[in-house]
Amino acid sequence: MLFSEFDLDSRLINSFSHFGYEHATEIQARAIPEAMTGKDLLASSKTGSGKTLAYLLPAIQRLYTRRALVNRDPRVLILVPTRELAKQVFATLRTLIAGTRYSSILVLGGENFNDQHKNFQKDPHFVVATPGRMADHLKQRNVFLEGLEMLILDEADRMLDLGFAADLRAINNAANHRRRQTLFFSATLEDTEVNEMAQELLREPVRVAVGHGQDEHLDIKQHVYLCDHLDHKQALLHHFFDTLTIKQAIVFTATKQDTVRLAELLSTWDLTTGSLNGDMSQSGRSKVMDDFSRGKFNVLVSTDLASRGLDIASVSHVFNFDIPKPAEEFVHRTGRTGRAGFKGDAISLVGPKDWFNFKEVEEYLKRTLPTSTIEGLEPTFTGITQKRAPQKDAKPKASIKKKAPKTQKKPTARKKAVFHENDQQGFEPFRLPKKQTDQDG
Ligand code: ADP
Ligand code: MG
Repeated sequence: MLFSEFDLDSRLINSFSHFGYEHATEIQARAIPEAMTGKDLLASSKTGSGKTLAYLLPAIQRLYTRRALVNRDPRVLILVPTRELAKQVFATLRTLIAGTRYSSILVLGGENFNDQHKNFQKDPHFVVATPGRMADHLKQRNVFLEGLEMLILDEADRMLDLGFAADLRAINNAANHRRRQTLFFSATLEDTEVNEMAQELLREPVRVAVGHGQDEHLDIKQHVYLCDHLDHKQALLHHFFDTLTIKQAIVFTATKQDTVRLAELLSTWDLTTGSLNGDMSQSGRSKVMDDFSRGKFNVLVSTDLASRGLDIASVSHVFNFDIPKPAEEFVHRTGRTGRAGFKGDAISLVGPKDWFNFKEVEEYLKRTLPTSTIEGLEPTFTGITQKRAPQKDAKPKASIKKKAPKTQKKPTARKKAVFHENDQQGFEPFRLPKKQTDQDG
């Protein structure tokens, strides 16, 4: 379906033309016409499928075509789970309403409350907010939502995961009048909590489910390598950075400590790196994200904090240094690549401790992920056959060779990974080297 078929206001068509998109993605093709009729919407589709425009276009269209209910209150409120995502949504919104009389503000946790209060006094038409901070402003009576025409929840499942249920209810109650339209987007609609919240917030919604969150994402190629221990993982990681053509990469890891440690390790391989974890201040986190999206450094090492919402087209590779426990997190992590029609590679390192999480991922995806090996870096670990997961830290001894002596040489940065400008031409498909000569373990 072409965007020109949507019957959008000519001013919106004009500002939208800056994006250069002609064809709507499937979720856009199905959600936009429904939302434009004024009906409530319950929608899901996989990451990177264009949900942001699927709600922003009908929201802006609504302002162009309908009168405000009241003069002062925000007309559209967009709630998103994280600051990073909020900023991306806000940037897209700003592009679409640039040069119009419509104004917008960003309301994020961790930033100056009084400044936000002042921004509310300017009566913005659009508010993009994280739920906790938005609820705080409502409580303080800094803003009222009696005139709210459209409430949009982006990544509702994630907001619930993050414990925003009470804030969402408070916001819903503050805007609970007949003429409100609600658009509810979630990666999954199968979750009970998501369903309950959807029932509370929506009135006779149209359901639009495009595939399932766990459907195979054709733009993301999955690669799995079995590993014996930490040193082995690091040697593999080094090998990949040494031999692959990488534009930008995110390395996901389980713990905050690991983000710092790995970022330091990577920088000894002549890579420009940054790390992100929940211990950092909000401004520290923002700066890292901004720098990464501007290409100031090439490798971001992060906990699952960066696994949702982030949309950086030049992320050509995602590395799972370990396998996350909730299987859907794996889908969110790997969904940071293969965006906007670009191809991406996701490379997962599976050690004995990751094995059961990995099996859960396969179960969740409903397919097996074949493993590969690198010559010279083959694992002795071949998986665990016992049915039930052992205690958290128990090592499945039978399948690991004796721990390799701690003689793992620091890999020498012989060839440097090649980074390209943020353009598509720079992308080269994943290829494995013919021979591994610089690491003999
Ligand atoms: P989601 O929220 O579903 O994960 P986003 O809305 O973040 O996905 O969109 C992912 C990327 O795809 C963004 O870079 C966006 O600009 C781009 N995009 C959105 N719609 C289209 C389209 N119709 N054609 C091409 N690219 C698109
Ligand atoms: Mg999104």
